[in-house]
Amino acid sequence: MSATLLDGNAVALAIRSEVRPAVDRLTARAGRPPGLALVLVGDDPASHLYVGSKLKSAGESGLFADVHRLPANASLDELLTLVDRLNQSPIHDGILVQSPLPAAMGPDAERRVFDAIAPDKDVDGFHPLNVGKLVQERATLVACTPSGVIELLDRSHIQIAGKRAVVIGRSDIVGKPMALLLLHRHATVTVCHSRTPDLPAVCREADILVAALGKPAFVTREFVKPGATVIDVGTTRVDDAQTIARLFAPGTKRRIAFEKRGALVLGDVHPEVEEVAGALTPVPGGVGPLTIALLLKNTLRAAEARLG
Ligand code: NAP
Repeated sequence: MSATLLDGNAVALAIRSEVRPAVDRLTARAGRPPGLALVLVGDDPASHLYVGSKLKSAGESGLFADVHRLPANASLDELLTLVDRLNQSPIHDGILVQSPLPAAMGPDAERRVFDAIAPDKDVDGFHPLNVGKLVQERATLVACTPSGVIELLDRSHIQIAGKRAVVIGRSDIVGKPMALLLLHRHATVTVCHSRTPDLPAVCREADILVAALGKPAFVTREFVKPGATVIDVGTTRVDDAQTIARLFAPGTKRRIAFEKRGALVLGDVHPEVEEVAGALTPVPGGVGPLTIALLLKNTLRAAEARLG
């Protein structure tokens, strides 16, 4: 058996094609487009890439988006001042501060910055008020990646209600909101983490298994009930030739891509799982594209709520 691959690019395109006309309608009504502020601190190349693609996607969807840059040596106070200014801005409905922040800002910098974003502009859904509303199932702004997974399941006609779901990972950004969204859709949910005993046995109970741990190819076939839906959230850049050689045979598409580029982005799910799962998200092209699509959708939602 070979799993059906769930096409995140196609679902993201469908969501974006729904967002565009709604953005145009709101722009006509409000006299300005929904606005998204992207805050970028420092020189991390991956963060620059992510912010660049968010900026481009926002523009393609008819949103106004701009980037607010601070140098790598900026202080936390400077960043909080910028966030405060954006909170007051009449043209920005959403604020996204790209993580990670420079380590020099201190261990609790991200939390302090996310807490400082006005909850009605919190398009990442990380503010404690929005997290609390998520727990009570009355949130408008929910973390983009787990919301994207739900969209992918729905649009792929995978039933959630009544199913056993297992989420590996309990981060505030992915694991916890993912578990809550699945629970609200009436799945029976188990959340696993680094101290879960006999993880493969727990995972084998899942009809829907979400891997969000950031450990390349960690989830092997022994974790997967035959026919289960496996959602691979992990994205880790790997440049170790031995790891790639272990996972991908010579002449395969991914091995050739590695030989060309010297690195690959790998998911948390081992390639062998494709032989066991019923449905599977590929990396790349699975969950990744949905995160940006949901950011656009959240910005539209925030603007609709603010503009009436
Ligand atoms: P994180 O904050 O590092 O959390 C990882 C979680 O995995 C933790 O809860 C950790 O458990 C658990 N874990 C680690 N090793 C484990 C093990 N051996 N067995 C069981 N659980 C283990 O990571 P994150 O921010 O949630 O991100 C997870 C992955 O998703 C990363 O690869 C990230 O790059 C990716 N991601 C992708 C997207 C996308 O758009 N595709 C978006 C966000 C994140 P403890 O709590 O016990 O430490």
